[in-house]
Amino acid sequence: MTFATLGLIEPLLRALETLGYQTPTPVQAQAIPAVLAGRDLMAAAQTGTGKTAGFALPLLQLLTMEGPKVAANSARALILCPTRELAEQVHASVAEYAQHLPLTTYAVYGGVSINPQMMKLRKGVDILVATPGRLIDLFRQNALKLNQLQTLVLDEADRMLDLGFSEELANIYRMLPKKRQTLLFSATFSDDIRLLAGQMLNDPLSIEVSPRNVAANTVKQWVVPVDKKRKAELFVHLMRKGRWKQVLVFAKTRNGVDALVDKLQGLGINADGIHGDKPQATRQRALDRFKASEVQILVATDVAARGLDIEDLPLVVNFDLPIVAEDYIHRIGRTGRAGNTGEAISLVCADEVNMLSAIEMLTRQTLTRKMEPDFEPEHRVPDTDASGQVVKKPKKPKKPKTSGGGGKRNLGKWVDSGEVAPAEPSIKPVRKVPVFNTGPRKKK
Ligand code: AMP
Repeated sequence: MTFATLGLIEPLLRALETLGYQTPTPVQAQAIPAVLAGRDLMAAAQTGTGKTAGFALPLLQLLTMEGPKVAANSARALILCPTRELAEQVHASVAEYAQHLPLTTYAVYGGVSINPQMMKLRKGVDILVATPGRLIDLFRQNALKLNQLQTLVLDEADRMLDLGFSEELANIYRMLPKKRQTLLFSATFSDDIRLLAGQMLNDPLSIEVSPRNVAANTVKQWVVPVDKKRKAELFVHLMRKGRWKQVLVFAKTRNGVDALVDKLQGLGINADGIHGDKPQATRQRALDRFKASEVQILVATDVAARGLDIEDLPLVVNFDLPIVAEDYIHRIGRTGRAGNTGEAISLVCADEVNMLSAIEMLTRQTLTRKMEPDFEPEHRVPDTDASGQVVKKPKKPKKPKTSGGGGKRNLGKWVDSGEVAPAEPSIKPVRKVPVFNTGPRKKK
């Protein structure tokens, strides 16, 4: 199969040739004809599957072939993304695909001045990529009208809900014309996502290109048990031993990111960090430098690193395990992209055993443990397996722990969403649901 047989027009084929895309990926093979035919879409696609081109190419074609010229302060298509970085990245891809088309594209997000964005929107743009909060600001300030909107794309919809955007999405939903095409992409499908889809989609075609909640199988994954206080030391040891060249490291908190970056820089290691407290320009600079291999180690929180596409990234290290098990899949999805192989190493301490167990249950695999000589933990990490069992073998009677329940508190939710029926076939059409779940979500 080629992109030409999917019915794409010549200017798009030319752009793809320049980019070296020869064969459509599975999500593209399914999504492109469906979107061209005007269908709504509910697509379960992991990161790195080529989903951006899956929605962007047919969208660009429809906008070129159909519909009126864009009016002032209007957008004909809107792509919503959970984070600023992702919005930039999606916009960069869209602009590349559109290079031979007479269409305008633009990205808006918070953390930077709104005025230039308002100026830019005056003439209208064909495709607007946006984060939800800034989109609403622009709408409320009359810088953007949405009555001309033909298509809405929700990219990484699960993440938008995880980040607490359900209220914003409900507001945006009320701003949209009733008659429109809607495409929803999500790596994982929780009940909340199905609820959202029930509200927003009209008789959607369901696409699933990889089993639900299963991590990319091109990524070799393992766990190194270690005491919490020795994680940084172990990281440096493994880095030197493995001669790691470029590593994306995930830490749980902003302070955790800063502490590790300080430690690495103190050792003369070329490291930088990104998290939500840093100004947008600083985050983007760190990311650009990492992508250009000018920074060797980039330490990030989940929020900052969501959906980033870094070419040939060989290694992801979970310095801390994620609080939400599904984030593990997203994190390791940063490597092993577009057919490359990758490695994901998690440094796990005893406190994190519930998180490890939830991840194994969600991904339906028991992660291999590799003990690093001289770093064997004093606080043993209890055995876990894909059934969600934590096998505790107390050697001596201990007082029950009174704290450290952060992971446990979330376990309830993980178990719910991890209660993934084995080999469930695909997303079922969702029944009509009267209202959104508009309550703010607690999770960060
Ligand atoms: P995505 O899942 O959209 O983030 O895409 C992952 C990576 O795959 C990006 O670097 C794309 O440029 C690349 N890609 C997408 N589609 C293709 C294709 N058909 N052939 C080769 N590379 C592709």
